[in-house]
Amino acid sequence: MEPQASAGERFGGMAALEELVGALTRPRLYAVDPHTLLEVPAPPSLAALLPEHFAFLVADVVPGDQALAITCYDQACRAGLAQVLLRFEGAERPTLFTIADVVEETGVLAFIFSDDPDALEPDGAVDLMLDEGGTASVTITPGGKIVEVYGSLPGVLDEGDPALIGASLAALVHPDDLGEALVAFAGVLHDHRMARRLRARLATSAGEGAGEGAGERAGQWRWIDCTLFAGRRDEAGEVLVSCSLTDVDADVHAREALAESEDRFRMLAESIPLGVFGADGAGRVHYANRTFREITGLDNVGEWFDLAHPDDRDAVTDAIEEFERSGGLLDVEVRIRPPGCFEYRTVHVLARAVRAEDGSQSGVVGSMEDISDRKAMQVRLAHDASHDPLTGLTNRAQLVADLEVRLASSFSGRDPLAVLFIDLDGFKRVNDSLGHTAGDQLLTTLADRLETQARTGDLVSRFGGDEFVVVAEQTGGPDGALGMAHRMLHALSAPAEIAGTQMRPRASIGVALAFDAEATPETLLRDADAAMYEAKSRGPNGVWLADAAVRSRADRRFGLEGAIADALAADRYRFDYQPIVDLSTGRYIGAEGLLRWDDEVFGSTSPNEIIPLAEETGLIHQLTDWSVSRAGRDLRTLMGQAGLDRNFPLGINLSCAQLSSPSFVQRYLAAIDAVGIETSDLVVEVTETELVEDGSVAEQSLLALADAGIQVAVDDFGAGYSSFDYLTRMPVTYLKIDRRLTRALPTNARARRVLGALVTMCLDMGVAIVAEGIETEAERDAYLEIGINAGQGFLFSRAITVERLVEDLRAEAGAGFTAG
Ligand code: C2E
Ligand code: CA
Ligand code: CA
Repeated sequence: MEPQASAGERFGGMAALEELVGALTRPRLYAVDPHTLLEVPAPPSLAALLPEHFAFLVADVVPGDQALAITCYDQACRAGLAQVLLRFEGAERPTLFTIADVVEETGVLAFIFSDDPDALEPDGAVDLMLDEGGTASVTITPGGKIVEVYGSLPGVLDEGDPALIGASLAALVHPDDLGEALVAFAGVLHDHRMARRLRARLATSAGEGAGEGAGERAGQWRWIDCTLFAGRRDEAGEVLVSCSLTDVDADVHAREALAESEDRFRMLAESIPLGVFGADGAGRVHYANRTFREITGLDNVGEWFDLAHPDDRDAVTDAIEEFERSGGLLDVEVRIRPPGCFEYRTVHVLARAVRAEDGSQSGVVGSMEDISDRKAMQVRLAHDASHDPLTGLTNRAQLVADLEVRLASSFSGRDPLAVLFIDLDGFKRVNDSLGHTAGDQLLTTLADRLETQARTGDLVSRFGGDEFVVVAEQTGGPDGALGMAHRMLHALSAPAEIAGTQMRPRASIGVALAFDAEATPETLLRDADAAMYEAKSRGPNGVWLADAAVRSRADRRFGLEGAIADALAADRYRFDYQPIVDLSTGRYIGAEGLLRWDDEVFGSTSPNEIIPLAEETGLIHQLTDWSVSRAGRDLRTLMGQAGLDRNFPLGINLSCAQLSSPSFVQRYLAAIDAVGIETSDLVVEVTETELVEDGSVAEQSLLALADAGIQVAVDDFGAGYSSFDYLTRMPVTYLKIDRRLTRALPTNARARRVLGALVTMCLDMGVAIVAEGIETEAERDAYLEIGINAGQGFLFSRAITVERLVEDLRAEAGAGFTAG
């Protein structure tokens, strides 16, 4: 089949072309279907049509220009644009022929024909094209001999190399590529209409001094793209094969390197524990790594957005639009539900645009991370930071923050916000006697009760150890708030079974109201705390409202807090002594030291206010040292000045906090030693409630003291929690009956019976009984009647200075008292 004829006959190409060319007055761009050579609206794909069909067009080019036409085509495929002046059969003038790869992605060629080739001469066009180097065109006989060489492939073949003419091109082809090359060559000879393309390695020339001729090769190879097509015929009428050659060696190596790095990238992307994806310019996901597929549970990852929570879709769509508009970073969190999952997972998607060299967006790469666990953790951390782990109530920090917001937003003088400060009574005892687990159990039980009592909108929080705070709005003023506090107290003190023990929890509640706009969380909490303190000081299970008096007492306490240390340092404390008397004779048989401090600013102070403050501020241990040495020195004074020749025990009061210090015993004995008295001269008075704890440090200390010969008195017996347990554990010398029992004795027969039994028991155990707070003769007589002979109280004497005590003892001696 003759190429010229076939193209013309089957496609009417020439006529159409001529028509086209004839219509041109200025350069114009046409997309041409190479089949028909007619302009087409939507250019067909290059891959589908070319290069085979290009051969038909080439058939219409005069034989001498066919090699140029095919080279031009090759060039366009590679570089996107190529131009050459071509003479078409029957055309009067050469046409400037341009091939443009107009739509790079779809691989469509457009042919541009121009009838205004003024700028270029035919040879100039060739030069323009071939001058770029790395491109040559070789004409080969059907027998494989080179007859013409245009252009050069540096290092492989050169137009000017005479040795090439007559040489075999096949001799240059790498043995491994030779088969494919020969198939292509034969294919062209078989079907003249078909161009063939292949990529083969050609041997490099030997270089300087390595001899002449195509046979001399250096043994190195370069990758060359070859396009073979049937060209003109020679004089003998044989079809010559034109072969367009382009050096793509650098390209191939670059691609290899790229492929290798892409492989590496893929391997990396597959193995990292982060979802990675790539999307095209239209946002369709075309690549996703293993983690991405695992997170989404999809094989077809392009559908991942279908998994998004309906509530999140708009936000994500907006974010994507904004991302496309601004070209910045896409950074969204979205909940997705992978197929077969019942729960939504939260994923974090980060993406950025990939830009082509010209700045246009060519795609998107991004990451997807499943942050559900981290999210849950954040929620938990945020919750933990603001809540108490034991009770689940809001904690102190959150309470203060919340109170601040409420005060700022809803201040109303008429219906003020109320703060209830709740402190459990005797919680420490529960903790100490039943253990911490029981303590925790009690706290959670009470927290539940508070929450049940609270109305919606009230805030219940755990303020500290055994302290709770309830914030309530619209309580209806002081009466309403106090009513609420009483309801809470009532609920709290309902019987509870903790660790198998029935108990009635008790608490003290202080109430403060935000009457003015100046109220802050700090002032309110301070006032409510002060009111709670006030309630507690009036006995367990009470409620108190913060008022001016409470505030001034709190202020005094605050002032005292600073002053008590100074007073101790300046040695301004003293002991006054309340004599302990023989109830039948009134004779002094001992005395109890009671802490006294008269201050210029604070006036006379009570140990009941000093001791708790000293415990809070940590001054208490210095106070222990002071107590022992003060009492010791006072005893020496008594012995010296009052001429005491009998055993005259002096009692000193020590709180549990004092006994609980690990260094207590050592300090106590050291202080006794320093003043030079006998250990048996002092009696340590410890409140009954503080002895309950079994095996505590305080108990250990007392045991150690007893071992050292110090006498122990159980103070305030019968004042509250009574257990005889400790009498069997502890070496108790005295039992001091609380003044509340004293008060009951004359009228309460039952109290008399209990005490009567106690006397028998104590006699048995060698424990002496001292009655406290005797104010009337009836009380004294009642004691005498049941066989209690020692006591103290205002009936006999208040606490007096050590000087007075000396005087009294002297007077006593002068009056001739005899031991009774
Ligand atoms: P306490 O050990 O029960 O001491 C007796 C308290 O009752 C004293 O109050 C005393 O003045 C008072 N009192 C004595 N006789 C009568 C009476 O007939 N009727 C009435 N109504 N009251 C009477 P004070 O001095 O205020 O001491 C209170 C508590 O402070 C003491 O109670 C004691 O537990 C503690 N305390 C006193 N001094 C010290 C101290 O130096 N160290 C420690 N840790 N605690 C001390
Ligand atoms: Ca006492
Ligand atoms: Ca007492």
